[in-house]
Amino acid sequence: MKAAVWTDYGKIEVKEVPDPVPGKNEVLLKVLAAGVCITDLHVYTGMFLYGKPPHILGHEICGEVCGLGEDVSGVEIGQRCVVETSVGCGKCAACRRGDRHLCAVREEIGTAPHSGGYAQYVKVPAANVVPIPDCVSDEEGAILESAACPSGGLLKAGVRLGETVAVLGVGPAGLAFIQTAKAMGAGRVIAIARNRRRLERALRFGADEIICSSEEDVAGRIAELTDGRGADLVCETTGAPSIIEQTAELAANAGRILLYGLPEEGAPITFPVKTIIMKQLEVSGVENNPYVWEPLVKLVASGRVNLKDMVTHAFPLDRIEDAFAMLKDKKEDPIKIVVYPWR
Ligand SMILES: [Zn+2]
Ligand SMILES: [Zn+2]
Repeated sequence: MKAAVWTDYGKIEVKEVPDPVPGKNEVLLKVLAAGVCITDLHVYTGMFLYGKPPHILGHEICGEVCGLGEDVSGVEIGQRCVVETSVGCGKCAACRRGDRHLCAVREEIGTAPHSGGYAQYVKVPAANVVPIPDCVSDEEGAILESAACPSGGLLKAGVRLGETVAVLGVGPAGLAFIQTAKAMGAGRVIAIARNRRRLERALRFGADEIICSSEEDVAGRIAELTDGRGADLVCETTGAPSIIEQTAELAANAGRILLYGLPEEGAPITFPVKTIIMKQLEVSGVENNPYVWEPLVKLVASGRVNLKDMVTHAFPLDRIEDAFAMLKDKKEDPIKIVVYPWR
């Protein structure tokens, strides 16, 4: 098959490799489309040390089941699906209670030993196959993972009816937080970002108010919009230390903070302990969880979460380096890019 292989730091080569063969409890998928994630860019350039070359990256996968390994049941040939990424050992306490994303060994599709979706075929555990209906397109399926992590965070924190939710950052994660928070009953969603042009697109994805942090005083505007109370839920997606430090100031008394954006390795962050204690805040770290996938597929199918307009660019797999270059230089301002291994 054809695959984009990460062969060395800064290098990805599209070449022929042997087809994967599904083992016990695994299925073979024909990859219909794969989402290009900024994390993969950071991994292959060596900015984020996670795994080693040679490896096939790609953890945002829409596929069609085309082969079944031994002992697979409940998955049918021809079924279109998305791939939930966490792979559990099946034996530790977390796996036994159904929390495979908290597995002691914790493996992920797209990270060794599991090859990813930048290829024509990929094998995955049958347990990771999440079926999608015909009305969800290959492109939407391909980027569903990027929305599943933020949406999973909201599922963990809970959004109470009518609450005010502040979302810091309007990249793909920010837009997913905005849309899912609205779908879960938020009364008002306030999007905050530096770049006004990017910020304005948050309005198209359901933000009620926008605050441009390069032009306005964010804390002052939040106070104004909430009668001085602050936001009930603050979702941080940028990973920028100064913004992470500001989250407590933006939260209401007894508010919740979801930390999602990863700061650069070793970046110093001054944790606002006093504000957290005095306001009695709840601070949670969030990442993928397996429970959000089926509900999110339903929200996408019903149109309440719009992934379609988040796919702004597409490339054949052969041009994956162009896709990464576009993500990196930001001139075209892509939201999400997908690659097609069969085009
Ligand atoms: Zn990703
Ligand atoms: Zn485990």
